[in-house]
Amino acid sequence: MPDKLALRINNLSKSYQTKSGTLQALDQISLDIPKGSFFGLLGPNGAGKTTMINIIASLVKKTSGSIIINGKDFDKYQTDLKYSLGIVPQELILDPFFTVYETLEIFASYYGIKKSQRKTLEIITALGLKEKAHNPPRSLSGGMRRRLLIAKALVHDPDIIILDEPTAGVDVELREKLWSYVTKLNKQGKTIILTTHYLEEAEELCDHIAIIDKGQIIANDKKVNLKKIFGKKKFIIEFTKLSPQITKILAKFGDISFNKNILTLEHKTNKLSYLDLIASLTKINVEILNITTKESEIEDIFKNLIYNNNSSLNNT
Ligand code: ADP
Repeated sequence: MPDKLALRINNLSKSYQTKSGTLQALDQISLDIPKGSFFGLLGPNGAGKTTMINIIASLVKKTSGSIIINGKDFDKYQTDLKYSLGIVPQELILDPFFTVYETLEIFASYYGIKKSQRKTLEIITALGLKEKAHNPPRSLSGGMRRRLLIAKALVHDPDIIILDEPTAGVDVELREKLWSYVTKLNKQGKTIILTTHYLEEAEELCDHIAIIDKGQIIANDKKVNLKKIFGKKKFIIEFTKLSPQITKILAKFGDISFNKNILTLEHKTNKLSYLDLIASLTKINVEILNITTKESEIEDIFKNLIYNNNSSLNNT
């Protein structure tokens, strides 16, 4: 395994036995997650994301396949590897007897972190929990509990941080605090793996993205490459006067729509350039007032892959 990988998942499968039969939640998933990457794992509800994370968190037992973390087989080195992993699960389960500060200190000592090396105060401050440091978890709001859950996963300074829908139902302030702290940790070299429903978050934060659907990986690449491969380019062109001749020429390049003298052209790939368009329009006598372009966002690519197109593609 290349030593630049934080995580290598190989043919990972999980089937659950349900009343109505066997449910294949993960179907031979293979995924390489580079060290230091900010990796987004996206997919609709029921795609298998939480199952995958819960297997890594040892909460769910895999049916088959292997997981290699920092070059070590997870099955053989599970106890050692727990120090490398900081996993923030979705459920908000906390011990009701200890204050926020105590909870974090207990976890730090559980991981054997010396008092002088603990980051409890830094984490509490970064996640906006300082005012509640001496309150018990039961007195915290839902958003504050989630902050504590995130803090708990970070006390032992893990080099791989896995966040399962960390911002589901939380306010803007926590999102901002969380992302600014997690981005800082990523810049320090930590690998971040994130599942989120907020595709704009993935767009902004992640450098790698895998899209999972019905237990299979349907796209997996650097964000820039995904945009090149699956993206569509939109041109918005303003003419002094729009004519049927213009629309006929431009319709050859893709789907067009127009509003007064402004025409929008959606090209199937990201390859068409301004020059190609202008070259074809100079053949007729036409005056262009303005051209702007808009590239596909991850949200468009996600919707296209999941809802409009069932073709599978894995680029690794
Ligand atoms: P996601 O996190 O992408 O929403 P999940 O991993 O939670 O997806 O679920 C994947 C599939 O496995 C779904 O069809 C879900 O209903 C099923 N599933 C998850 N956990 C269990 C379980 N404990 N028993 C039976 N089926 C389960």
